[in-house]
Amino acid sequence: MSKVALITGATRGIGKQIALTLSKEGYNIVLNCRTLNDDVEEVKKEIESNNVEVLVAQGDVSNFDDCKRFVDEGISKFGKIDVLVNNAGITKDMLLARMKEEDFIQVLDVNLVGTFNVTKNVATYMMKAREGRIINISSVVGISGNAGQANYSASKAGIIGFTKSLAKELSSRNILVNAIAPGFIESDMTNVLKDETKEQILKTIPLKRIGKPEDVANVVKFLASSDSKYITGQVINVDGGMLI
Ligand code: NAP
Repeated sequence: MSKVALITGATRGIGKQIALTLSKEGYNIVLNCRTLNDDVEEVKKEIESNNVEVLVAQGDVSNFDDCKRFVDEGISKFGKIDVLVNNAGITKDMLLARMKEEDFIQVLDVNLVGTFNVTKNVATYMMKAREGRIINISSVVGISGNAGQANYSASKAGIIGFTKSLAKELSSRNILVNAIAPGFIESDMTNVLKDETKEQILKTIPLKRIGKPEDVANVVKFLASSDSKYITGQVINVDGGMLI
């Protein structure tokens, strides 16, 4: 029986690549998107071309009821979820002096509360199945902090605490919980940065290149596989050496 992976925010960027990479490994995919549109249909077709089944599961991760509904849809269709990848995330960068309360709360709501909302609903099934993998996408700035990203860094640091706590809590059910902390990866999230800012960041990367979504997706593939069955509660940096 094919394995099933649920990936949040899988319409573009890193999430889309994770879905593509896991589908090449034979996983059926529950593809979460915030809104339904033609682009989502295109992504679905692209993944299906790897001879797997794809369920599009619309829902806002910051809304608990949405998460319960789309997790249930995934279970109804495939009967199980073997791997959960909490990838959906947003930024609303601003220095503290000018950061609005709503922008602080919204980033926490999507990135951290969203991770809780989906995990809580999926873990119920994984606990019954007595196995599972949960992979949370954090960020290097959740470890190092970053001026102008107090909201985002706090949300990503929160994901690390959440990951380590759940790794301890769910280990008796054979559910492994790990986080990936990407550095600077090519995507819509980083394309908005000024060229000057990108140049500055590039200087801090020992491997002298910006990461690709595949660099993150390949680590997800490893953490989802039986090759990583003795790894839990870890944060794996995928950052070209940025945080050494
Ligand atoms: P991206 O290109 O901006 O894609 C973000 C994805 O999340 C989109 O599919 C988006 O859906 C979805 N999303 C946002 N809010 C959502 C919500 N409330 N409910 C459901 N889906 C939602 O970003 P990315 O660069 O691929 O980032 C993916 C993850 O990696 C994020 O958690 C990000 O923080 C993390 N990360 C990225 C980098 C980097 O350098 N790119 C570095 C470190 C960590 P829509 O299409 O509807 O907006």
